[in-house]
Amino acid sequence: MIIVGLTGGIGSGKTTVANMFHKLGVPIYLADLKAKKLMNSSKIIKRKLILLFGKEAYKDGKLNKPFLADKIYNNEELLLKMNAIVHPKVRFHFKNWLKKQSYSYIIKEAAILFENDSYREYDYIITVTASDEDKIQRVIQRDNSSSEKVKAIMNNQWSDEDKVKLSHFVINNINLDKTENQVKIIHQKILKLV
Ligand code: ATP
Repeated sequence: MIIVGLTGGIGSGKTTVANMFHKLGVPIYLADLKAKKLMNSSKIIKRKLILLFGKEAYKDGKLNKPFLADKIYNNEELLLKMNAIVHPKVRFHFKNWLKKQSYSYIIKEAAILFENDSYREYDYIITVTASDEDKIQRVIQRDNSSSEKVKAIMNNQWSDEDKVKLSHFVINNINLDKTENQVKIIHQKILKLV
């Protein structure tokens, strides 16, 4: 089974691109979405996050996303500690998910892949790029976030330039139709590699 990593900066369009591959029949694993789900459903993660951030980490039993986002966006140490709690669980879940897949390749989408060295676990890597201005505008529109917060998160991530150097495929996500064409071309190329 070929494992393809799909990454890119915040707001670059990773999930949008992942869904385009899904439309072509490729199984996709959305690691960041799974992490958020596990933060709500796993009792162990809940307990550890409350120890790390305090009771406010959850509101009415649900993950208090704005509170957590506020805590971690400019605090790398807290972000690393949170990842150390959540990521092992996601990896475990992914391994089990992978066993159930029968297609010739799968795509795992994750925002952090080069930054934590996990890129070595993939057979091929696709990086989605976009201009900083586009990324910021998209996230502000999607999450009602502020330009400062998006920029702070971008500062914790590798630049597109550095990611591209270590990638096998690059999708410059400007226009959705053109992005979909790039997805189809890369899909055919990967099928020839498997
Ligand atoms: P994050 O890192 O925050 O999870 P992401 O890289 O997964 O983000 P998406 O959620 O796919 O990015 O896209 C961010 C927003 O921008 C979404 O609302 C999406 O619909 C929109 N978007 C993605 N690509 C384009 C595009 N080419 N043109 C316009 N809007 C786009």
